[in-house]
Amino acid sequence: MYGKLTPEIVDELKRIVGEKNVTVSKDEMEDYSHDEVAMSERIKHYPDVVVKPGSTEEVSEIVKIAHREKIPITPRGAGTGLSGGCVPIYGGIVLSLERMNRIIEIDEENFTVTAEAGVRLMEIFEAVEKKGLFFPPHPGDTSAMVGGVIVTNAGGARAVKYGVMRNFVRGIEVVLPDGEIMEIGGKLVKDCAGYSLLDLFIGSEGTLGIVTKGILKLMAPPPSSLMLIVPYNSLHDAIKSVPAILKTGVIPISLEFIEDDVIGPTEELTKKKWPVMRAKAYLMIIVDSTSEEEVMNIGMKLTEVCIENGAIDAFVIDTRSKQEELLEFRGIFYEALKENMAEILDISVPPSKIAEYVEGTKRLSEKYGISLPTYGHAGDGNVHTHIMKDEGWEEKYEALRKEIHELGISLGGTITGEHGVGLTKKGYLKEFEPKKVELMRSIKRAMDPDNIMNPGKIVDI
Ligand SMILES: Cc1cc2nc3c(=O)[nH]c(=O)nc-3n(C[C@H](O)[C@H](O)[C@H](O)COP(=O)(O)OP(=O)(O)OC[C@H]3O[C@@H](n4cnc5c(N)ncnc54)[C@H](O)[C@@H]3O)c2cc1C
Repeated sequence: MYGKLTPEIVDELKRIVGEKNVTVSKDEMEDYSHDEVAMSERIKHYPDVVVKPGSTEEVSEIVKIAHREKIPITPRGAGTGLSGGCVPIYGGIVLSLERMNRIIEIDEENFTVTAEAGVRLMEIFEAVEKKGLFFPPHPGDTSAMVGGVIVTNAGGARAVKYGVMRNFVRGIEVVLPDGEIMEIGGKLVKDCAGYSLLDLFIGSEGTLGIVTKGILKLMAPPPSSLMLIVPYNSLHDAIKSVPAILKTGVIPISLEFIEDDVIGPTEELTKKKWPVMRAKAYLMIIVDSTSEEEVMNIGMKLTEVCIENGAIDAFVIDTRSKQEELLEFRGIFYEALKENMAEILDISVPPSKIAEYVEGTKRLSEKYGISLPTYGHAGDGNVHTHIMKDEGWEEKYEALRKEIHELGISLGGTITGEHGVGLTKKGYLKEFEPKKVELMRSIKRAMDPDNIMNPGKIVDI
């Protein structure tokens, strides 16, 4: 089906990017054979070669070779993905963007940052903060790269108020499956010129082209912010507080719910203590406003609402550094559970259906005898249920996983709210959204007729 990688082609690649940026040794390619999916051993696949270009022109030259020789090519960012998206399941070329790590410009007048695809999010945060600016999207692993977060349309804890990556991508430079370089969007706030190709590439998971540069929208940082950690005796009460909070008219930056099951393993891993009293469940709320006084008033208002809805207490975390520390602590939940976890799910339901969804997962947990610790973005309906490797999990895993997804779909939800379809959810996409899959296949065929660009992800053609 695909062309073979010959020694002559490897030499050609070396001429483009330099010998030290081409790897064919199996040992050195281990890191490039998987992503962060918990059971990565199951879907691991080695490429035939890893190539690390240093410029868009080099990416274009490499893609032209892949196009000419019909060799599959899988773009890779930081490999923090949770759906097997950057695993080269047909071998071929892994094109790692890691050397394209320059922040090109921070435009303080247009409120944009232009960065190469291999710049890590943590570097964006640091650079824009130095200029007194703010980049809101905050997925849990900030080592993820600009290209990766664009093409997975990453979300994270701050999406309730500011939205996901899609709301922050103004423009991209992309190398198409035939090697042509194209610029889409720019620093424009408005652009109605035909179909939104920008939106097509955001969330395309490397199946339509390789993003080499991103122009991202920035904001002025909120002058004051405050975090509340609110403990509850029941998860039900915690989740039921969410609509009551939103009805106050306050839109928190972040509104997360957390089950206590995830706290112990995270304390153990980080050697840090959870900063408030232990309870069955918690809400973690971040709000911002124009002054300290105003933000304190909002904090008090939300505390009252939470207490009225069953909260035991509410603890204020007022310094930004402590808030960052707690966001980091939250980002480690996954790592803490990972060793004993089969999979983290990211089903998204309408926010009003979260309680029903989580209660449904509790019933499934009892039915299958498998624990399903849960935390998630309560404010936007995106819930992380973890299927744990309890006794007998292997025989029950497929059926349990399917029932959880069916539950989400029955509540008007979708199979993935932020991690993407990749490899691990491709089957469900086909099963639950057959008409959309047909249209997606036509788009893929039109843009990548030889199916060389990250083949086997999202849809098969
Ligand atoms: C602890 C942890 C917490 C996380 N929390 C969140 C969260 O809160 N919200 C969230 O949305 N995600 C989260 N994730 C998932 C992951 O961080 C995101 O999906 C992230 O956007 C992936 O970026 P990456 O650079 O690691 O991409 P990779 O994993 O390398 O690749 C992901 C996909 O993008 C493609 N790709 C990568 N770079 C390019 C490029 N330049 N051009 C074209 N295609 C490309 C790959 O082929 C693949 O399909 C979390 C992951 C971990 C491990």
